[in-house]
Amino acid sequence: MGLDVKKIKSDFPILAREIRNGIPLVYLDSAATSQKPQVVIDAMTKYYQFSNANIHRGVHTLAEEATGMYEDVRKKVANFINAKSEKEIIYTRNTTESINLVAQTWGKTNLEEGDIIVLTEMEHHSNLVPWQMLAAEKHLNLEFVTVTDDGLLNLQVYKELLEKSPKLVSFTHMSNVLGTINPVKEMINLAHQAGALTMIDGAQSVPHFPVDVRDLDADFYAFSAHKMLGPTGFGILYGKEKLLDAMPPFMGGGDMIKKVLLRSFKPNDLPHKFEAGTPAIAEAVGLGAAIDYLQALGMDNIALHEHELTNYAFQKLSEIENLIIFGKNNNRGGVIAFELGIIHPHDVAQILDRHGIAIRAGHHCAMPLHEKFGIPATSRASFYLYNSYEDVDRLVEGINIASDLFG
Ligand code: PMP
Repeated sequence: MGLDVKKIKSDFPILAREIRNGIPLVYLDSAATSQKPQVVIDAMTKYYQFSNANIHRGVHTLAEEATGMYEDVRKKVANFINAKSEKEIIYTRNTTESINLVAQTWGKTNLEEGDIIVLTEMEHHSNLVPWQMLAAEKHLNLEFVTVTDDGLLNLQVYKELLEKSPKLVSFTHMSNVLGTINPVKEMINLAHQAGALTMIDGAQSVPHFPVDVRDLDADFYAFSAHKMLGPTGFGILYGKEKLLDAMPPFMGGGDMIKKVLLRSFKPNDLPHKFEAGTPAIAEAVGLGAAIDYLQALGMDNIALHEHELTNYAFQKLSEIENLIIFGKNNNRGGVIAFELGIIHPHDVAQILDRHGIAIRAGHHCAMPLHEKFGIPATSRASFYLYNSYEDVDRLVEGINIASDLFG
């Protein structure tokens, strides 16, 4: 079923905003963060207006209500990504924290000097730096799957690296620069055959197409609420129960304990073992409303809409002289990074902003990937369910204006 984008746009108050002198906003920066529909904003406001209390601690009505709302979302998230149980859903602040959690708990206890972690050249800094920090501390070796000129992972290199018996393989489901959707299921299967565990960065996948962690057989899977219509400050770590159970806690404090003595403590059961302190309760409620919204539209329909829109954008952008798109138009998501002749990406973004079009310019937290392509920065347009063909036309118009100004 096609999406009714006009109706969807009207669900997002910010998309009715005008930029500068009455120019309607075209928001093409959803890879950085998505906009929020009114239902998400309302769910969070309603929580604060009627049910606000701390969770897991009180016996009064509000505390029970807040705890119920907070825990119901865990079931919703488990169902959304087809986890076996809500015990496998750990609440974090974002994808970044989810990956750090795995590095600092599983990594610290299971890796030893000389062990290998396989990453890729297309990773976001949040799937590089946590492993670099751990590698420096524990004297581990990091190896990298190379990226081809077409922006795909070199699977031959991956297979060769697996022959070195790494302990962990960690890579992104979809690149936030190239739009490449990696063959995750196949790569996980190969990693398991080589005896490695797998951590998948799902920041750009879960918001945009159906993800089934059990079908993928991922060991760990991370994503952020703010990129999927939900609030900032809230993220998810999925982990297989057996693995999470054997891992030590991440941070210490309230809620993550069963018993505390002056000199020792007994950790709580899953999932609370990893959730120290008062969490982001309203944000959990907001994510629940976001998932309801996404599911009502259907993740398959959202994926199809973005696929068609991206194809259209690819075709239109390819017609522009001196515009180079990074990545191949083949099984890719709605992220298009490009270069426009010798015009600096910041200038492109600034000119587009003058015409109400919000795109991103810079290294998009993927400096090594840009270095690989020999450029410091790119311009990036990214799409979501509320973007229309007219939005793409406005983008093309804006780029043509930028070309003329500098050409
Ligand atoms: N990985 C990828 C592929 C991303 O695109 C992003 C966000 N740009 C992240 C990780 C980090 O997400 P967050 O900042 O929400 O932790």
